[in-house]
Amino acid sequence: MPTLRSLDALEREGLLLPDPRLEEAAQSMAIAVTPEMAALIDRANLANDPIARQFVPSVQETEIAAAELADPIGDEARSPVKGIVHRYPDRVLLKPLHVCPVYCRFCFRREKVGPGGEALSADEMAAALAYIRARPEIWEVILTGGDPLMLAPRRLADLMNALAAIPHVAIVRLHSRVPIVDPGRVTAELVQALKPGRVGVWLAVHCNHARELAGPTRAALARLADAGLPLMGQTVLLKGVNDEVETLEQLMRALVAARVKPYYLHHPDLVRGTGHFRVSIEHGQALMRALRGRLSGLAQPTYVLDVPGGHGKVPVGPAYLADDPQAMTVEDAFGGQHRYPPA
Ligand SMILES: *Cc1c(COP(=O)(O)O)cnc(C)c1O
Ligand code: SF4
Repeated sequence: MPTLRSLDALEREGLLLPDPRLEEAAQSMAIAVTPEMAALIDRANLANDPIARQFVPSVQETEIAAAELADPIGDEARSPVKGIVHRYPDRVLLKPLHVCPVYCRFCFRREKVGPGGEALSADEMAAALAYIRARPEIWEVILTGGDPLMLAPRRLADLMNALAAIPHVAIVRLHSRVPIVDPGRVTAELVQALKPGRVGVWLAVHCNHARELAGPTRAALARLADAGLPLMGQTVLLKGVNDEVETLEQLMRALVAARVKPYYLHHPDLVRGTGHFRVSIEHGQALMRALRGRLSGLAQPTYVLDVPGGHGKVPVGPAYLADDPQAMTVEDAFGGQHRYPPA
């Protein structure tokens, strides 16, 4: 089965309950569901299946709330040249292309990703590399997109080598969903392209539910870890997908078992048409509090909010210290309150 790319294809596979209003949802963002993800969907429980919810269009996408934004994390405001986002002095995002192996209905770059968006041209890539080369303060380049592992291994190797040739670039970090949703792309050639030698290469994989870590995905992650690549996990907190403590606990344990260190749990961004995925920050904090008491420190992500308007990410708790005139009060992972003396 090829990747499913239309409402018709989803319906033929029994992954969609037909509704005329879905045309509008499908127009606002491209559809792509890989065979690996389609196979994980419980067809008897489509309305509540956490995998279907992430990739199959819903009529709720046509409901746009007033607070929602076309550019929820302010990438545009921080883009000095095409393909670069420069928010923090020591690191830049470099977006070589806009395509992804799947299209996540909650995507924070929903209005940018898709098969219509072209990759950077050779000239545009040269200009982006020149921007990095001219700024010695850039220590880390973060390849994102779209999904950088959608580049052909040869092109990816060329890009990695070009970055490794810039003396002040010490780290190349890639953010990808490919190993999770399209593990067959993680070939020996691709793994080789990720080993340019001089720079430290880190790979962050985007994974939202333990069921996404099926056998072929665990094998792909093992190939990457065996090649010496440190792996990190990024998860988006999503209503109806992973907003219960047991679900998050299983996911974090499954990631660590696959040698993926949970890095961030992202509070959902204010993306247009994604209100059905959003939970409150209070709920996210309650989940993090519960995880702290039941999960190994290895498996704890940092809960972050990307401040709308291009102001970057900040941890949003929960907080364990409370001020008090005489001493601080510290709450332990099990809810107990303890006084801590002033310095
Ligand atoms: C998320 C992001 C980064 C990376 O942030 P870290 O906290 O280092 O993971 C860098 N630049 C931009 C513009 C970002 O949105
Ligand atoms: S893989 Fe990432 S960039 Fe692509 S649609 Fe999903 S969330 Fe968006």
